[in-house]
Amino acid sequence: MEIKKYQVFSPDTKCSVENCERNADYEVYLYDYYAPPLNEEFIEQDYTCPFICEIHMNENEVKSLGEKKPRRIVTYPYTNQHMAQGYTKYLPVSEAYSEIFNEGLIVNNPQLRIDFTDINKELIRYIARNPEIMREINPRKFEELVAELFNNKGYQVELTPRTRDGGKDIYAIRKDSIGTTLYVVEAKRYSENNKVGVEIVRGLYGVKSAERANVGVIVTTSSFTQDAIEFASPLKYELSLNDYTDLKKWLIEYK
Ligand SMILES: [Zn+2]
Repeated sequence: MEIKKYQVFSPDTKCSVENCERNADYEVYLYDYYAPPLNEEFIEQDYTCPFICEIHMNENEVKSLGEKKPRRIVTYPYTNQHMAQGYTKYLPVSEAYSEIFNEGLIVNNPQLRIDFTDINKELIRYIARNPEIMREINPRKFEELVAELFNNKGYQVELTPRTRDGGKDIYAIRKDSIGTTLYVVEAKRYSENNKVGVEIVRGLYGVKSAERANVGVIVTTSSFTQDAIEFASPLKYELSLNDYTDLKKWLIEYK
């Protein structure tokens, strides 16, 4: 596949983010595709930010908004400034330009492969090292992160729009030989001192009952008030409260 490029890389190419003096770690691409039956892929070097350092790459992903699905638009702080359809992918420059990094070695047809860095994995490792970043990311992004953590634990996950506040509920389904369990999960990206109160827990319990789900799960970047904990404690098979410490453990367990 011929990839359209706007800027060539040399060993002293810097990150394209304004005023960033760091070396480029990744080449950046705009990627899009038509879902089956077309199965057509589009890929070109990112016009506004062809190269990026590790730190800005992580920031770019953490602050991205939108769904990485065919023909959708994802917004980023640094890449895809013209809001083209598609989303950003990264390839380490050492792989994209292996002929430069492996001087003297014979490189057979260094054609760009499209098995890019798995950004989910990279990003979650980054968050695991810097868990406090979870308190700064967009609440929508935090919902996606929680959904991904459940997905990684082997649950079937669905993010569905909640009508009133524009937030999303996460439905996680676990199937095994004994049966199927439905979890309705609510993610609360709160600052450290803003504890999740009993009204939120009671609200989720109501949703769980109305939806005929088996367990209501709250996941937060803060902790729970005493009232909330007391409300949930006799309902331990129906409610599961998970705080910042639990989240940090899940991030470390991420495979
Ligand atoms: Zn940078």
